Amino acid sequence: MKEVVILGAGYAGLSTLKALQKKAGDFHITLVDQNDYHYEATALHEVAAGTVPKEKITYPIKEVVNTKVTTFLQDRVVKINTDKQEVELENNTALKYDYLVVALGFRSETFGISGAEENALEMVNIESAVNINNHINAMLKKYKETQDKKYLKFVVCGAGFTGIELLGSLAEMKPKYAKVAGVKPEEIEIYCVEAATRLLPMFNEKLANFAIGKLEGLGVKLLTGKPIKGIKPETVVYQDNAETEELAELEAATIIWTTGVSGSFVMGESGFAERRGRVMVGEDLRDPDHENVYIIGDVSAVMDPESGRPFPTTAQIALKMGDFTAHNILRQLNNQATETFTFKSQGSVASIGNTIGLGQVGNTSVKGYPASFLKKIIMNKSLAATGGMKQMFAKGRFDLYH
Ligand SMILES: Cc1cc2nc3c(=O)[nH]c(=O)nc-3n(C[C@H](O)[C@H](O)[C@H](O)COP(=O)(O)OP(=O)(O)OC[C@H]3O[C@@H](n4cnc5c(N)ncnc54)[C@H](O)[C@@H]3O)c2cc1C
Repeated sequence: MKEVVILGAGYAGLSTLKALQKKAGDFHITLVDQNDYHYEATALHEVAAGTVPKEKITYPIKEVVNTKVTTFLQDRVVKINTDKQEVELENNTALKYDYLVVALGFRSETFGISGAEENALEMVNIESAVNINNHINAMLKKYKETQDKKYLKFVVCGAGFTGIELLGSLAEMKPKYAKVAGVKPEEIEIYCVEAATRLLPMFNEKLANFAIGKLEGLGVKLLTGKPIKGIKPETVVYQDNAETEELAELEAATIIWTTGVSGSFVMGESGFAERRGRVMVGEDLRDPDHENVYIIGDVSAVMDPESGRPFPTTAQIALKMGDFTAHNILRQLNNQATETFTFKSQGSVASIGNTIGLGQVGNTSVKGYPASFLKKIIMNKSLAATGGMKQMFAKGRFDLYH
C-alpha cells in the first residue's frame, strides 16, 4: 500500500484530496493541516471587516474526509526531509510518504519594510482576520473613552486585489463602526497607501478607474504613488514626493498590511529551491529535484508559456493544480508517465462590498451589480470544488438579488 501525504487543506490540498478519494486504489492518504477546519481564504477580508462571521467561510475538514481511505491529522508542518521521505510535525512523530503533495499556501510578505511585522496587522488566515476585527472594535470603543480621532482612522497598506477588496468591505461597514464609536459614518476615515500609480493592473484601465471611483465615492482616501518606508506604532511613514524624497506620516490606530504574500516558510526550511517561499515546478507540477513531490497552490510557481512569466497565484489555479496533481499521482501509481499541466485563466472578479464588483472574463468586462453576482457564483463554485454540494448549500452566497 503506497502512502500519499497531502500537506495543507486549502484550495490546492482539498482539491487533490477530493479527486484522489474518488479513485480508491492501492494507496492510503494522510491529510495534514494545522487547523481542524478549511477556510475560504478569498473571503478573509470580509471576516476582518466584520461583514460576515468566521463560521460563514469555514467548515470542518472531517466533513470532506473519507475515513476508509484517508486519515486526517491536525498538526503543524515544521519541515520536509526529502532525503528520508519524511515530514516533521510539531506534535506527532514524523510522517513517511511515498508521494507528497505540498499545498501549504501563503503568508504575509513585508519586503523588509521596517516595523511592518510589529506594527501592522496581517490578514493571512482566520486567526489574523478575526484579530483585525477584534482590534477594530476595540479601537472604536477606545474612541468613545478618549475622543482621540486616531481611533476612528484605518490605513490599508497596499492597493492590490486584496487591499481593494478589504477597502470595499471596510467602507461598507462605516455605518456600523460609527454606531459602535457613537459618531457619524463620515467621521470614520479609511485611507490606503500604495506605491503604484496604476492600480489593479490585472484589469483594464476603465475597470480599474471604476473601482477607484466607487471606493472614493464611499469616502476612501487613496494615496497612490506613495511608497511605504516604514511602520511605527500607530503611524505609517511614506514617501510623499518622489523628487525630493520627502517623507510624510499618517497616524491611525488600525493599520492593516496587504502589500503582498509569499509562500509558506516550510519551503525554505526544507531546502527546496525557492524564492519568497515559492518553488518553480516542472510542467507536471513536480519539484524538479524530486519525482515523488508535487508542489502546488501558493507555494509553487508555474510558468505561463504565453507570457513567459509565472501565473499569478490564485485560488482558481490552486484548485486546478490540485485536481491535476491527483491525476498525475494516479498515473505514477499505475506506472504511467506524468502529464503536462495546462491552465487558462477564466478571468477574475473583485468585490467592493457585498453588491458591487468588477471583473474581466475573457475579453468581457463586467462591473457593478452583475459583477458582484458573478463573484458570488464563483465563490459558490469554489466551495463546491473543495467541500462538495453539502458545503456549498450550507455556506454558499445566495443573496444574489438586491
Ligand atoms: C482577501 C483575499 C482575497 C482573494 N481573492 C481571490 C479571488 O477573488 N480569486 C482567486 O482566485 N484568488 C484570490 N485570493 C488568493 C487565494 O486566496 C490564494 O491564492 C489561495 O488561498 C491559495 O490556495 P492554497 O490552497 O495554495 O493555500 P491556502 O488557501 O493558503 O491554504 C493553505 C492551507 O495550509 C495550511 N497550513 C499552512 N501552513 C501550515 C503548516 N505549517 N502546517 C500545517 N498546515 C498549514 C493552512 O491552515 C491552510 O489550510 C485572495 C486572497 C486573499 C487573502
